[in-house]
Amino acid sequence: MRIDAGDVASAEHDSDGGSIVADTKHRIPREGTQPADLGQEMLALIARLYPICRSITGEGFRQTLRILREHIPLEIREVPSGTDVFDWTVPREWNIRDAYIKNMRGERVVDFQRSNLHVVNYSVPIHATVSLAELKEHLFTVPDHPDWVPYRTTYYQDGWGFCLSQNQLDALQDDEYEVCIDSSLEAGYLAYGELCLPGETTDEILISCHACHPSLCNDNLSGVALATFLAQTLRTRHRRYTYRFLFIPGTIGAITWLCLNEGSARRIAHGLVLACAGDAGHPTYKRSRRGSAEIDRAMAHVLQHSGRPYEMIDFSPYGYDERQYCSPGFNLPVGCFMRTPHGQYPEYHTSADNVNLMSSTGLADSHALCLATLTLLEQNRAYVNRHANCEPQLGKRGLYRQIGGQTDTSVDERALLWVLNLSDGAHTLLDIAERASLPFAGIHRAAQALLEHGLLAETRSGAQTTGVEAV
Ligand SMILES: [Zn+2]
Repeated sequence: MRIDAGDVASAEHDSDGGSIVADTKHRIPREGTQPADLGQEMLALIARLYPICRSITGEGFRQTLRILREHIPLEIREVPSGTDVFDWTVPREWNIRDAYIKNMRGERVVDFQRSNLHVVNYSVPIHATVSLAELKEHLFTVPDHPDWVPYRTTYYQDGWGFCLSQNQLDALQDDEYEVCIDSSLEAGYLAYGELCLPGETTDEILISCHACHPSLCNDNLSGVALATFLAQTLRTRHRRYTYRFLFIPGTIGAITWLCLNEGSARRIAHGLVLACAGDAGHPTYKRSRRGSAEIDRAMAHVLQHSGRPYEMIDFSPYGYDERQYCSPGFNLPVGCFMRTPHGQYPEYHTSADNVNLMSSTGLADSHALCLATLTLLEQNRAYVNRHANCEPQLGKRGLYRQIGGQTDTSVDERALLWVLNLSDGAHTLLDIAERASLPFAGIHRAAQALLEHGLLAETRSGAQTTGVEAV
């Protein structure tokens, strides 16, 4: 099934062979869903996706996207193997049916059917009888955690191998073993999922997650679930920005998307990569390469005012797909939201990164923090004070004292004065919130009250609605 590698556009098709028009059966979030319920729903999605053997290409990835389409109207795109994408080439499609190591009594001592982590992901097919010494050259364990099975891949380099626990390895007798990996590596497609939610402006907010890991939860099903439920929430909301959700294979997926969308990628005004977002640890935000983009400041503000521990880390050119979005040619304002970062928890890239590591509270909190940040971006505008010559008299408008004593609206007088003072068309509400050391929500409420009383005017452009820089 070799397709002309250069013909990307004509090869975009739905994995089911049909049109990519969204069906109408997608679930609409229930009104009044409580955060605890939301965490449980995210956990249920993770548990459902967990057994699937995903890779950077192949049926497991498509199956995952089809399940996500039960929640959100994802379009499934396919790019043929062999397509050149910048300095990379879309790889062959990997599919696997079975794999095992059998002893001479015919018993499966390592069995893919028990866990897909047992096969080195992307292994070439093999069926042979080998000695234990020979076999050991293809075996991987986690010696420090003798019950755990590691996750290994052999992308971009043909090879084969098995992952097993140290205890399983130690139990292997010096004998001959039948090894079988019933996989195929053939010309096919790289599949990814894309959802665009149009807003008032064509400036975009990108939400990207990798969805290529097999049975691993925090890395990466937590990010997949978080992106799915954020999309579900945002679908029902009024949107100033256009939102683009990407569910892609790590690295090659981001490179492929950026290559196919090089021009329109410049519309990305803010972006978040989501990964490791479902454990019980505190939230971590990795800044974009720019370091002080609006998304960086918005996330910092939300975390700072959450009243709970969090960590901010600077950009580095390793990690997840922020590496590609923040490569110098694009330099997009895309940060990465995590809880405990990759490599900083012992279960990372092992069989212990399973559903038991997931926290429904952590998942719901990640959703709340990301949504608060996106809401901030939606509401972050600059206004002009229409009574700039000295303070307007707030008392006669019912905005002073009376309001100060009310607990229901809680429009803070300090917030009113800060908004009036700094609304010169150049300062956004986030600028004001930062300068006043007040939560953005209070500053926004004050601005709304002042707008209602005719004391503020919207600027024509909304000012700083885009973080796009010329590159
Ligand atoms: Zn990973």
